[in-house]
Amino acid sequence: MTDILVDSFGRQITYLRLAVTDRCNLRCTYCMPAEGAAIVERKELLTFKEMYRITRVLSELGINKVRLTGGEPFVRKNFIDFIKMLSFNELLHEINITTNGVLIIEYIEVLEQLKVKTINLSIDSLDASNFAEITRRDVFDKVWDTYEKLKNSSLRLKLNIVVQSGVNTSEINDFVALTERENIEIRFIEEMPFNGVGKRITAEVWDFNKILHEIKSTYSNVEKLPIAKSSTSHMFQVKGYKGVFGIIPAYTRTICHDCNRLRITSTGLLKNCLFDEGVFNIRDYIRDGVSDAELKQLFIDLVAKKPKNGFVAESNRLKINQVSESMSSIGG
Ligand code: SAM
Ligand code: SF4
Repeated sequence: MTDILVDSFGRQITYLRLAVTDRCNLRCTYCMPAEGAAIVERKELLTFKEMYRITRVLSELGINKVRLTGGEPFVRKNFIDFIKMLSFNELLHEINITTNGVLIIEYIEVLEQLKVKTINLSIDSLDASNFAEITRRDVFDKVWDTYEKLKNSSLRLKLNIVVQSGVNTSEINDFVALTERENIEIRFIEEMPFNGVGKRITAEVWDFNKILHEIKSTYSNVEKLPIAKSSTSHMFQVKGYKGVFGIIPAYTRTICHDCNRLRITSTGLLKNCLFDEGVFNIRDYIRDGVSDAELKQLFIDLVAKKPKNGFVAESNRLKINQVSESMSSIGG
């Protein structure tokens, strides 16, 4: 029988989130401090060859989908060549990318020819000055051009919006309005404390229920859509609208029961859960000269220990209450 990755709760892991860098060209306030998150020395980052090997081995264990993220993946030199390389892996069904949209525009046509299926574009405000305050950079026009170009491409487009109390909550329904004519998917993400500071300072807690309530107070005809297996979001649609919207309970964590995800950070730290501290450094293991068979066994053993949910993962952390990494180093 072929080996697969299954945890002790019977969940099969088929989806890898791979952070290709910890560097970023923006400084989003909910993700990192103004001076930026601490970055590691270049030699500590996985090389593309190492990432390719890790992905190949994982794909032989049933991983068929990879999300490339960061930091900002497009700030890593030769990132496009890495996607080309990954596209040759016949065991992968799809490659998806999460990006802030500042540098991707010139590569869209090339991406359409590769195994890339979906682009998740982070766009936390539709207002240029609010956008600049959130990202601490004046790049709204560039990101909007990317949005327009992606919308007209053959790639599937999802928009990521981190809901930040008092910052963009008044725009939630403007985003929903975009789905009237556009066949896009909007995803509202609950803000998490992964901001490189460790504190979640919010006037009000904008969780799943509050976000949905806000939308339903404007749109009375919101329909719940069936939830796809292992989906991160609960999906909805305003009746008659072309696009859909979802809410990701990233912090309230009601989607852990059929999680199929595994994370590897840009330094090769394997994370069974967004909320764990990282369970093993794959980079050091590889650099010690292990065989593919040893690497496979390691993945099987590590995944078996995946915690039941994000609350268990958080409580297992050695430094309890010290959830202070930036999402840019975890890989969102
Ligand atoms: N730089 C790319 C981007 O912004 O799309 C990819 C990396 S970013 C860490 C991946 C996703 O994590 C983005 O959608 C971002 O908005 C989200 N994210 C970052 N910090 C977060 C936080 N504290 N809470 C919730 N989502 C967060
Ligand atoms: Fe960079 Fe993405 Fe974090 Fe914003 S959310 S600072 S774009 S890594």
